[in-house]
Amino acid sequence: MIETTTNSLATFDSDEAKWAAVLARDAAADDAFVYAVRTTGIYCRPICASRRPRRENAEFHADGPAAERAGYRPCQRCRPQEISLAQRHAASVARACRLIEASDELPSLDELAQVAGLSRFHFHRVFKSTTGLTPKAYAVAQRAERVRAELLTRETVTEAIYDAGFNSSGRFYAAATHMLGMTPQRYRSGGEGMEIRFALGECSLGTILVAASEKGICAISLGDDPERLLEEFQERFANAILVPGGKDFDAWVARVVGFVEAPHVGLSLPLDIRGTAFQQRVWQALTEIPVGTTISYAELAERIGSPRAVRAVASACASNTIALAIPCHRVVRSDGALSGYRWGVKRKRALLEREQDHELAGGS
Ligand SMILES: [Zn+2]
Repeated sequence: MIETTTNSLATFDSDEAKWAAVLARDAAADDAFVYAVRTTGIYCRPICASRRPRRENAEFHADGPAAERAGYRPCQRCRPQEISLAQRHAASVARACRLIEASDELPSLDELAQVAGLSRFHFHRVFKSTTGLTPKAYAVAQRAERVRAELLTRETVTEAIYDAGFNSSGRFYAAATHMLGMTPQRYRSGGEGMEIRFALGECSLGTILVAASEKGICAISLGDDPERLLEEFQERFANAILVPGGKDFDAWVARVVGFVEAPHVGLSLPLDIRGTAFQQRVWQALTEIPVGTTISYAELAERIGSPRAVRAVASACASNTIALAIPCHRVVRSDGALSGYRWGVKRKRALLEREQDHELAGGS
């Protein structure tokens, strides 16, 4: 009687529950236990179509072998001896997996064994032989999978953390590097020690920082304080190899500055846009707003076919890191108010006025 499973089945954890399952011919109980009839010496599956015994004549066993050890013979009708061990183990392990998936913290081995309806020791062995992983490794792998999926669909890393079921970002960060093999931000941006060239310049709106990967412009930011701009930039691309741009890069910066001063000219430089699929949809739509015009967040949401996602659209606009080239400054509130701008509302107003003046002057 080692490896007995007579106690603590997940949803059939008492004789009363088992009896209720027999009365209901509950299919969910089929692999969970068998019942034996003292008066006939026969044991059955809970779903057997045979006439049910009186309650006082029924007893419960974990499985066929256990019933047979107690002296019972299998029923000819429901053939309970054919519930394979592997099948029962798979069902036990599946229950434990569901519990792991639904829990924030890894449940204890005792809890898992109880849900699986197996002894602690037996459970660990069965779990490992069924999934190829220990329960702990399974939990880590499963969590990592959730985080990976969330990181690719959520607006922010923080959202992804919470949606993946972590309730504190500290705990998440402690585990994340191990799970993902890199920091969440780097995973998200496709990180791999990419090389980024950058340079600072001056334009009529203040200091401008331009950065580019080998794919194209990956950041344009504006500010009053060059050091502050540089710090933000280094923080954002903490895992990249940052290289001060050389002579040929100065030509790019000059073109970006020229574009700031004369937006209608357009910026014919490739962009390296990094974001979620949703953000990319929003940013793509932004690039299609003509110079000199504005639209509201609601209109933009409509335009990308997600009319109800106004807040998510606003959040995607706020996450834009390529100023001007992705003209998030052309989105305003429905009442015409400017709302926020990552690089300062003052600059947003100046940009819009400049674009408007040009349109009014009849240029193109
Ligand atoms: Zn039967």
